[in-house]
Amino acid sequence: MQEKGNISIHTENIFPVIKKFLYSDNEIFLRELVSNAVDATQKLKRLASLGQYAGEVGDTTIEISFDETAKTITISDKGIGMTAEEVKKYINQIAFSGATEFMEKFKEAKDANEIIGRFGLGFYSAFMVADKVEIQTLSYQDGAQAAKWVCDGSTSYEISEGERTTRGTDVILYINKESEEFLNKAKLDGILNKYCRFLPVAIKFGTKTTSEPDGEDEEGKPKYKSVEVDNIINNTNPAWTKAPSELKDEDYLNFYRELYPFSEEPLFWIHLNVDYPFNLTGILYFPKIKNDFDLQRNKIKLFSRQVFITDEVKDIVPEFLMLLHGVIDSPDIPLNVSRSFLQADSNVKRISNYITKKVADKLSELFKTDRKGFEEKWKDIGLFVKYGMVSEDKFAEKANDFALVQNVDKEFYTLKEYAEKVKDIQKDKNDQVIYLYANDAAKQDSFISGAKTKGYDVLLLDSPIDGHFVSYLEQKTEKTQLKRVDSDVLDKLIQKDETKELALSEEESTTVKSLFEKAIKKDNMQVEVTALSVDEMPVTVTMDEFMRRMKDMAQNGGGMSFYGNLPDNYKVSVNGNHPLIKRILTSSNDEEKENLAKQAFDLALLSNGLLTGPELTNFVKRSVSLID
Ligand code: ADP
Repeated sequence: MQEKGNISIHTENIFPVIKKFLYSDNEIFLRELVSNAVDATQKLKRLASLGQYAGEVGDTTIEISFDETAKTITISDKGIGMTAEEVKKYINQIAFSGATEFMEKFKEAKDANEIIGRFGLGFYSAFMVADKVEIQTLSYQDGAQAAKWVCDGSTSYEISEGERTTRGTDVILYINKESEEFLNKAKLDGILNKYCRFLPVAIKFGTKTTSEPDGEDEEGKPKYKSVEVDNIINNTNPAWTKAPSELKDEDYLNFYRELYPFSEEPLFWIHLNVDYPFNLTGILYFPKIKNDFDLQRNKIKLFSRQVFITDEVKDIVPEFLMLLHGVIDSPDIPLNVSRSFLQADSNVKRISNYITKKVADKLSELFKTDRKGFEEKWKDIGLFVKYGMVSEDKFAEKANDFALVQNVDKEFYTLKEYAEKVKDIQKDKNDQVIYLYANDAAKQDSFISGAKTKGYDVLLLDSPIDGHFVSYLEQKTEKTQLKRVDSDVLDKLIQKDETKELALSEEESTTVKSLFEKAIKKDNMQVEVTALSVDEMPVTVTMDEFMRRMKDMAQNGGGMSFYGNLPDNYKVSVNGNHPLIKRILTSSNDEEKENLAKQAFDLALLSNGLLTGPELTNFVKRSVSLID
């Protein structure tokens, strides 16, 4: 039996194109060929279990080997094998149709990245690294003849009698000049570890040395000897493929360690397991977040039937869950399509919704069964939850019941509880409830303690997401506004009905204003004399809430560059009812007047963290002379 032929495709010599455009990702040839070997093995096992294969299944280990001198890499399986007819059909026609389809896509694709590294190329990806590919195969069928197929990367092939005497297939790659880097143990180890680590059939790559008990020495101590054993590179039965009922906490933790050997233990996890209307399995872990710099994306690995595909799951997992770790495995995610197509795919949308729902359910369950534990973890999960709430309405609906806010005294409240807590005392004259918050409890301490004196509560909103969360809360909570505790004097932050009488005459008020203006000498500080409670500070320096938010937004790159470019403007509120102001007015000495005004102003700056540099030094000096 010998036959030569031409592969019937219209595009002449597609291999140079495949090579060129897949060059950056050419290591996937191994993933493709090993996946084929796994498929062939599983098909055989299925036939055996259906009683359609009477022979002995035996050991089915797939073997990867390489020969540096001959410059070959061989993938050898003990699967169903192929008859010559099947080689013609599956390799020449079907596999080539995959390659032709690839060419079609390549023609349409504007960006080579859209097609690189995606499935659909299968067997022919071998030509990315090989000049010549040989198949030696023997079908499982009774009386089958071994077949050999050789193709040198042109569109012609040769089929002849093969040499294999046992069931299965060898794919032998004659590695081309540019790809000789693959003829290296460490290189192949790395690729196998990346793509094949959790494949369901054992894969052997060379041998390794381990030690084995070897009787006892003269003193009766156990002896060990070194032995060479098969180096099996994969865990064929990873945790996510098992039923949740089979797994204990320790199994989940062990699997986490297997995935991320150097990471701290996760907080908790979610086992995904659905069959219908799409197939999805996986385990998602909530990591501990030590600080904001720690936020690592792309830690979720996407598999398709245990074959690693990518750790870029951006369009499959909702953005806010990208901070999670773990694996998802779904054969229902189309892999050979462009990103924009992926986003529009209905299965992908359903999968994304499902994951969101599962995460929300898990959090809700934790909250209900162990609120204290939930509060303890809030520092880490709060970020996900807030991020999720501001970005996904569906998630927000559920999260409303378990999202927490914490006040500066470290007490936790659900959103409902908090609204209830402050609804009367923090209602202003326009029926708006004002939530006060601090983003830096230490710096804003004097404002916080002022608020507390009035019986108000102050929330602590100090994580990077909180800027957005503040707007979110305002939008979603009726008749409620959030104001940072240092954005105005308290009487103005929460304006009550009563109007305070100013203890100064109009003339005195004007004098005080110009006195302070003279003492401050700054264009960006607008002085205002107001009637405040006697127990408020004599002078308070604040930046308007709206202004500050716009500036923050500009700084975080959220547009608003107009505001970003404005100088920092502050309001200097002089409390006309404070005894110190009266004292300044009644002082006969002009220098003393100015000094006192400066001193009161600097105190205000000081409690705002704004007093620095030479101004701070001058303040200290002046204070000393005042004490003298
Ligand atoms: P796909 O695997 O997506 O079908 P491929 O181009 O990788 O596409 O392979 C084409 C076909 O060739 C496979 O469907 C299978 O029938 C056959 N084949 C490939 N490799 C093997 C193998 N190691 N053993 C048996 N059949 C194989």
